Amino acid sequence: MRLADVLAYAKENFGDFVHNKKLDIGGILLNQLRENGVKNIYHEKICTACNERYFSYRRDGQTGRQGGIIMLRSSHGKSLQKSL
Ligand SMILES: [Zn+2]
Repeated sequence: MRLADVLAYAKENFGDFVHNKKLDIGGILLNQLRENGVKNIYHEKICTACNERYFSYRRDGQTGRQGGIIMLRSSHGKSLQKSL
């Protein structure tokens, strides 16, 4: 698939989130969360390619490993724990 094909697909499906041939993945994810009723969203707004603290294939061109954590909190601010 050519880059032009990928950009055409992205423009057709995510038109509002394509800027200068770059796809705003964070914007797409925020939009999907809001569309699905998620109201309390904390968006860190960190670009892993620009911030040296984070691994970035885009910046360094080498593969590596990266993880993420998602946690639900109760209305009292304590994390919800699942018994095993
Ligand atoms: Zn950046």
